[in-house]
Amino acid sequence: MPELPEVETVRRGLAPVLEGRRIVRARALRPDLRFPLPDGFGQMLTGRRVTGVGRRAKYLLIGLDNDTTLIAHLGMSGSFRIYMDSAPPLATHDHVVLETDGGAEIRYNDPRRFGFMDMIHGDGADHPMLKKLGPEPLGGDFHAARLAAALKGRKAPIKAALLDQSVVAGLGNIYVCEALFRSGISPKRKAATVQGGRARRLHQAIRDVLGEAIAAGGSSISDHRQTDGELGYFQHSFAVYGREGEACPGCDCDPGRTGGVRRIVQSGRSTFYCAKRQR
Ligand SMILES: [Zn+2]
Repeated sequence: MPELPEVETVRRGLAPVLEGRRIVRARALRPDLRFPLPDGFGQMLTGRRVTGVGRRAKYLLIGLDNDTTLIAHLGMSGSFRIYMDSAPPLATHDHVVLETDGGAEIRYNDPRRFGFMDMIHGDGADHPMLKKLGPEPLGGDFHAARLAAALKGRKAPIKAALLDQSVVAGLGNIYVCEALFRSGISPKRKAATVQGGRARRLHQAIRDVLGEAIAAGGSSISDHRQTDGELGYFQHSFAVYGREGEACPGCDCDPGRTGGVRRIVQSGRSTFYCAKRQR
C-alpha cells in the first residue's frame, strides 16, 4: 500500500506535466473507484487549468483554476502513468484519463480499486478525509515535543499509535517498522512512555527514513511505480521490514543464534523488529 514516500514520488512526477497546464480532455472509464466518482467528473475537469499539484499525507491534491481541488488517493494498488506524444492502447484497469495542452496523457490505473477521487471546493483541507489528519512528518510543525505530546496518555503500543493518522500523517506499516528500528524503540512499548530522548530519536528517525525513501523513488514491494513506469528502490534499503529471520544491519542478532529479525502481528498487521536493538 502506498505510504507517504510513494505518494510524494507520484506528486513529483505529476507536477511538471500538470502545473500551469490546461486539461483539454478528462474521461472516467467507469462510474466508480472505491466510491462513486462525482457526477459529471469528466466535465468538471475538462477545460480547467491546474494551479498546483500538492500532497497531504497520502492524498494528492490537484488544484484547479476555479478554486476547486481534485483529491486522489491511490488505495492499495493505484498508479498514475504519464505518456508524452503517443500512448499505448488503454489497459484493462486504466480508469481515469487526463489529457493536457502540453501533450501529456495521464492515466490512473487501479486493479483492486481501493483508490478514490473526489472534487471539492477550496484547497481540500476541509475534506472529511483530511481534516482530522495530524501534522505532516516532513513539515515545519512536526517536532519532537509535538510527537511526545500526541503520545502522552496512550496505552496502545507505539506501533499502533504511529499508524494513527491523527498522531502523525502519512505513515503506514513499512515506514513505522523502519523508523522504530532506527530509533531503537520496541514496537511493543507503550506509546505513552515514548517521551524525552526517545521521542527525539523517533522524530528524527521518521524524518530520515521518509526523506531517504522519497529520494529512492519510494518502495516497490507490490504495485508502486513512479509516473514513468520505473520502480522505486527503497525496498532494497529496508533494515527490518519483510526480513524475518535475517540479521538486521549493524547488529549481531545472528539468525543462527538469536533468530534475527522477528515478526509479530499487532492489530492484524505484521511488525518486523530486532528484539536486541529495540527496547
Ligand atoms: Zn538486530
